[in-house]
Amino acid sequence: MLSTMQDVPLTVTRILQHGMTIHGKSQITTWTGEPEPQRRSFADTGRRAAQLANALRDELGIDGDQRVATLMWNNAEHVEAYFAIPSMGAVLHTLNLRLPAEQLVWIVNHAADRAVIVNGSLLPLLAPLLPHLPTIEHIVVSGPGDRSLLADTEAQVHEYEELIAGRPETYDWPELDERSAAAMCYTSGTTGDPKGVVYSHRSIYLHSMQVNMAESMGLTDKDTTLVVVPQFHVNAWGLPHATFMTGINMLMPDRFLQPAPLADMIEREKPSHAAAVPTIWQGLLAEVGANPRDLSSMKQVTIGGAACPPSLMEAYDKLGVRLCQAWGMTETSPLGTMAHPPAGLSDEEAWPYRVTQGRFPSGVEARLAGPGGEFLPWDGESAGELEVRGAWIAGAYYGGAGGDDLRPADKFSEDGWLKTGDVGVISPDGYLTLTDRAKDVIKSGGEWISSVELENALMAHPEVAEAAVVAVPDEKWGERPLATVVLKEGSTADYETLKEFLAGKIAKWQLPERWAVVPAVPKTSVGKFDKKVIRRQYADGELD
Ligand code: ADP
Repeated sequence: MLSTMQDVPLTVTRILQHGMTIHGKSQITTWTGEPEPQRRSFADTGRRAAQLANALRDELGIDGDQRVATLMWNNAEHVEAYFAIPSMGAVLHTLNLRLPAEQLVWIVNHAADRAVIVNGSLLPLLAPLLPHLPTIEHIVVSGPGDRSLLADTEAQVHEYEELIAGRPETYDWPELDERSAAAMCYTSGTTGDPKGVVYSHRSIYLHSMQVNMAESMGLTDKDTTLVVVPQFHVNAWGLPHATFMTGINMLMPDRFLQPAPLADMIEREKPSHAAAVPTIWQGLLAEVGANPRDLSSMKQVTIGGAACPPSLMEAYDKLGVRLCQAWGMTETSPLGTMAHPPAGLSDEEAWPYRVTQGRFPSGVEARLAGPGGEFLPWDGESAGELEVRGAWIAGAYYGGAGGDDLRPADKFSEDGWLKTGDVGVISPDGYLTLTDRAKDVIKSGGEWISSVELENALMAHPEVAEAAVVAVPDEKWGERPLATVVLKEGSTADYETLKEFLAGKIAKWQLPERWAVVPAVPKTSVGKFDKKVIRRQYADGELD
């Protein structure tokens, strides 16, 4: 028998309407580099989103599920696009502005984007690509930047503010199927071509509710969140949607992502929460070490996208800022786990839980697959590949215009679970500890060495700023670890000192014999250690 409950589609439109009315006074503050940041209320954002939707339909002719791309920093206009495009039934496609040009071209063509909204400061990036983007018919430019770069394009160029000015502040939003596409995001393509993940209205709605739970980020309209994680990196981890559900104020850094302006914004605007990958927090720590600022407003920081070194957590604990680790992927919307310790523990008892990747929320089911395809127990010891399933987890990749969905066997199990490519253990009470990405694990003489464990141990040394460990070929053992280390300014530590430091913490046979001091660890387009580049540098003899 069916239920007697109403069947109301869970859509981005409903999140927008709720945020702009119930939380109309909440604010989006965008850093501008001027003495005063830009401040815009949720109510105004909603009205401007309606104006944008009217303009996209009436002026640009956006229709049906056509894709509208954004090439933008985190700012209020980007939030407007986040709501306008899906709510009118089109598909928001956030472009990762740090991707190499050829990947951006591939992605735009694969998604067949019809229009792009771009921040003026990013025109130098977009303009040279345009001759290779035949599907782009319209370019909407927002904010300062050199428009003359678009002089030769065949696409129609619009000014964002002029385009929306004077248009109706309401829109007759269509009632959409909650399973229809709302937004898409391509994985950064560490192997092979990028893969498109298409989020539905329903998946975004349910994911936003989870983000807001105390079990996850647990924020309210009393909070302000500093959204450092880019809006092109898995929808800024769901924050723009989640904030409109609960009225959390947003602080947006726009293009001011360097440690110094971030520290300034925190001291001045006093966010109570922030979200970003570990490298951002490493950089900020060095900045406030050199030029102290008050970061203590931040009660909780969500840190994810890569393993968080425990030493980083300790350093922030001393500043009164609590880092809480989360795990996720483009394919998981991204919230997959969050590391809140169980209730009732002392700080000391809670610590072992805080350094895990966290536990699964009710909407995410997990299992560990062993090498032979068998499923392993949650005993905290059996290591296998993590597989997940849930309402905000991808079940396929986008096949492109006219193409079928893609379900490669290395990414999806026969029974439809997502194979994450992450290797780890799960404790009996459901806490996940990742030891490595399957492709980063060091296979030495038939045993596995965790690159992450070595990195964390190295970064605990007071003179080490960053450390990345990769597998390199070895005649005798197959593979051995290579440790690349960034030393803090003025450090005189040498390999022997570092090796001695590791000795008590890491099994002897796992200690690296290959070392390189480097000025910086190469980073991916979303700020993670780029191990592919380190392996290539080693192969090219650059790290000897
Ligand atoms: P990319 O694959 O290009 O890095 P994603 O942002 O989707 O793009 O990355 C997802 C991956 O990031 C995960 O599969 C995992 O390997 C890694 N990751 C994310 N969060 C964590 C974390 N807290 N600890 C360790 N690894 C993490």
